[in-house]
Amino acid sequence: MIRTLAFDADDTLWHNETHYAETQEAFRSLLRQYHDDAWIDERLHATEMRNLSHYGYGIKGFTLSMIETALELTEDRLDGAGIRRVVELGKAMLAKPVEPLPGVAEVLQKLAGAYDLMLITKGDLFDQETKLVKSGLGGHFSKVEIVSEKDEAAYAAILERHGIAPSAFAMVGNSVKSDILPVLALGARAVHIPYHLTWAHEVVAAPVDSPFPVLESIRDLPDWLAAQSAQG
Ligand SMILES: [Mg+2]
Repeated sequence: MIRTLAFDADDTLWHNETHYAETQEAFRSLLRQYHDDAWIDERLHATEMRNLSHYGYGIKGFTLSMIETALELTEDRLDGAGIRRVVELGKAMLAKPVEPLPGVAEVLQKLAGAYDLMLITKGDLFDQETKLVKSGLGGHFSKVEIVSEKDEAAYAAILERHGIAPSAFAMVGNSVKSDILPVLALGARAVHIPYHLTWAHEVVAAPVDSPFPVLESIRDLPDWLAAQSAQG
């Protein structure tokens, strides 16, 4: 019996990756006179990966990685105005409104009566707390966990901390790597709701026979949950 239903935030409850994609396009246009798009993307991704252990996930770390990449790709010729432009791109991302995905508000409203709803997201604490407030969805969740990495150990610690048995827990999210596989490894259930964009770092090969349900929209979740409880 599922009692606690946990949701990922970015690209599950609200748009996120589209903001990164838009910013990355502006970043490319800043550097297009020096390099082609594919090389700019490749160098930025490599810098981000190298910096994850220093900055963790989130916009602030991404901004620092854009500055570093721009300096690298221009061999330090990017001037103050160029650096200012990159800082502004990062600040514009932080100032973006948080738009819940279609159906999210009504589905959470509907499920909050029957399940204990939890939010589990990774990234920068200040940034994620701000997004939750801006989304207007905070009131639906009885528990919010903002972690630096969503792996098996992190989920195990969360379940332990709240005294939740894996058999009573299900996770819903857009990332197979972060929201699905580590949760299944603990013996809990996980529901994949893909977003139309996936960050390169989160891409994993899809198993041929999907061992987890894949829903097209969060609007399909109440029916899936009803089917689970009918099965006992
Ligand atoms: Mg996500």
